[in-house]
Amino acid sequence: MNKEKIITVTSPLLPDLNEFTSLLNDIWNSKWITNNGSFHQQLEKELAEYLKVPYISLFTNGTLPLITALQALRITGEVITTPYSFVATTHSIWWNGIKPVFADIDPRTCNLDPAKIEAAITPKTTAIMPVHCYGKPCDTIAIQEIADKYGLKVIYDAAHAFGVDVDGKSILTAGDMSTLSFHATKVYNTVEGGALVMHDEKMKKKVDYLKNFGFKNEVEVVAPGINSKMDEIRAAYGILSLKKVDEAIERRKKAAETYQEGLKDIAGITYFENMPGVRHNYSYFPIFIDADEYGMTRDELYFRMKEQNVLGRRYFYPLISTFSTYRGLESADPKNLPVATKMADSVICLPMHHELTKEDIERTINIIKR
Ligand SMILES: *Cc1c(COP(=O)(O)O)cnc(C)c1O
Repeated sequence: MNKEKIITVTSPLLPDLNEFTSLLNDIWNSKWITNNGSFHQQLEKELAEYLKVPYISLFTNGTLPLITALQALRITGEVITTPYSFVATTHSIWWNGIKPVFADIDPRTCNLDPAKIEAAITPKTTAIMPVHCYGKPCDTIAIQEIADKYGLKVIYDAAHAFGVDVDGKSILTAGDMSTLSFHATKVYNTVEGGALVMHDEKMKKKVDYLKNFGFKNEVEVVAPGINSKMDEIRAAYGILSLKKVDEAIERRKKAAETYQEGLKDIAGITYFENMPGVRHNYSYFPIFIDADEYGMTRDELYFRMKEQNVLGRRYFYPLISTFSTYRGLESADPKNLPVATKMADSVICLPMHHELTKEDIERTINIIKR
C-alpha cells in the first residue's frame, strides 16, 4: 500500500462553516426554505453581476437547464453536438426526443469544429449545442455565422466556463442561451446546482415558469414545466462560496502555471497554452500523451499515477458517442470523429483545484517525468 497523501483531481470550494450556520439560522427563523425565497433572489442578482450577464435563472443542477433550454426554445428534429463532453450534454437532447448528431472537434481546443458543424447540417437540424470544453471558449463567432446562415438556435453547455471572459466580455453572452453547472466538482459550486443564462426578460420569465411546473401564478399553468428550482439552503451556500471564488481561480491559475513550467520539456506530453484575450478559470488541466514519443500509453501513465496516489481522470474518455444509447447513430461512427477519438484516447486531466500545494504539483510532475 502506498502511504503517500492521496492527491485528488478536484476538491470542493466550501463556504465558511460559521457564516453558513448563521445563514441557516436565518432560514430556520423565516421558515422559507424554497420557492424563490430571499436567498434565491439574492444569489441570482449577485451571480448576474459577477458573471456580467443580464438575466440568469437558478436551477437545482446543471443538467436540467440543458433540458429546459431545449424546451424553452422549442427545439425539435436534430441537434448538432460534441461527443467530447460529459454525458449530460447529449442526454439532455435525447430526453427531449431529439436526435443528437455528433460532429468532430478541433484538436487545438477540444471544442466543436465549425467546419464539421456545417457539414453535419440536414433539413431537420434546428439547433447546435456546443460545449466550452475545459472552460476554453468555442469559436463563437464562426458558430453564430453558421447558425444565422441556416436559421439555427445555439445553446452553449457552459458547465466548465464559470467566470470565463473573452476581451472582457462574458462567454455566457454568446448564442441564444448558456447553461452552468454548480456541481461540487466545478470551479464554483452550490453542492448540486446550476443555472440558465438568457438575454431578455421575456425568456427569463418563461424559464422561471418552466422550472416551476409551468406555474405563472396561483391558478395558471402556461407550459408543461418541470420542478428544477434551487432551494434556499443551497442558495445561501452559494452566496457564501461566491465570495471565495476569485481567490480559488487565482490559486488554480498558479497551479496551472506550475504545471506548464514543469511539463514543458517532456517529449510526448502536450497541454493547452492560455488563449490571448481570455480570462481563463483553470477548471481543468488536461494533458495529452503521444504514446510513441512518450514511450508509454495514456493508460499506463494513468495507472502509474494511481499507484502513487495521484488521481487524475480521463475526461472525456470514453466518448459519449460510444455509449450504448448512442453508438448506433450514423454520426457516432468513429470514422466521423477521428479527432475526438484521438483526444479521448490520449487525455489525462491532472489534479486541479484551489487547495493543491506546490509539493502536490511537483509530485505529479515527477511521476510524469519518470
Ligand atoms: C457537470 C457537467 C454537466 C452536468 O451538470 P450537473 O450539475 O452535474 O447536472 C453538464 N455538462 C458538462 C459539460 C458538465 O461537465
